[in-house]
Amino acid sequence: MIEDKNQNRTDLGSLGEFGLIDHLTKNFTIKQKSTIKGVGDDAAVMDFKKEQVVVTTDMLVEGVHFDLSYAPLKHLGYKAIIVNLSDVYAMNAQATQVTVSIAVSNRFPLEALEELYAGIETAAKIYNIDVVGGDTTSSTTGLIISVTAIGVVDAKKVVYRNGAKPNDLLVVTGDLGAAYMGLQVLEREKEVFKVNPNNQPELDNYTYIIERQLKPEARKDIVKLLHELGVKPTSMIDISDGLSSEIMHLCKHSKVGCDLYENKIPLDPQVISTCEEFKIDSTTVALNGGEDYELLFTISQEDFPKIKGNPNFTVIGFMKEEAAGMHLITRAETSIPLKAQGWNALNN
Ligand SMILES: [Mg+2]
Repeated sequence: MIEDKNQNRTDLGSLGEFGLIDHLTKNFTIKQKSTIKGVGDDAAVMDFKKEQVVVTTDMLVEGVHFDLSYAPLKHLGYKAIIVNLSDVYAMNAQATQVTVSIAVSNRFPLEALEELYAGIETAAKIYNIDVVGGDTTSSTTGLIISVTAIGVVDAKKVVYRNGAKPNDLLVVTGDLGAAYMGLQVLEREKEVFKVNPNNQPELDNYTYIIERQLKPEARKDIVKLLHELGVKPTSMIDISDGLSSEIMHLCKHSKVGCDLYENKIPLDPQVISTCEEFKIDSTTVALNGGEDYELLFTISQEDFPKIKGNPNFTVIGFMKEEAAGMHLITRAETSIPLKAQGWNALNN
């Protein structure tokens, strides 16, 4: 739960910037045919032939996006890659390369950055992507990680946020709200630890939700599965900020409305039991929690038989004319306007 105070400390200044990048990336291997030149020159070189290229960037800031008192650096490195790959997959594309830049204060020894890069390397291996560049610089406080991910997609397969039509079905992968509830458990244990540092956290009942918070996965498998099923979504987005705001993005860009059914929202039993324990409404958590990194997409009704019964997918609603607006149909069958509250609304 807390940094090991007895770890070896090698001062970052002793390596210099170039020594540092070489040291941190020395185990990284090139896996993608499209990578002509990776780390080690002024710029990376890639060759994507006829495919379209997607590029996306995300930044993680200590104290804003993560808290090192419970996020191990290896997990953080892993997560920094995953959140970017998720955006590539949300375009129905395959991720191929990333660049990783970090700004770090001298309170971090070399060994801490080695941990961070071990997580980056693990993600690169599992998701079959190349780390082709990056930068390291000093910061006066804290740690900042910026990742740029690159991917490829056949021009006919790229999926945007703006293609949903009235009567299309709204589909989500996996289950929602777990990462948010994992964070609640970690925050609670951090407070307990502050009061009594000898108190060992009891986390056995929360393994799934804590893993969803600390070590999320991106849905590379779904892009492949949709391709195998012959389904091209009409619109797609990944769920980073909560179901509600992502639905609103799809509706706004596609100029449609939507009915979302509360009783269809997929929840893991551990999310339901932890919500009961924390006295939080599980629907609110699914709508506003975020960091699920599942995919949310729309399909035309004629594609429904292709996904029907597949455990990866849940149909949670359908799209309507724009003038109908965006609504949550509750279990009591009342219709209430969807709101995008995001993380902060849950944190008061
Ligand atoms: Mg996104």
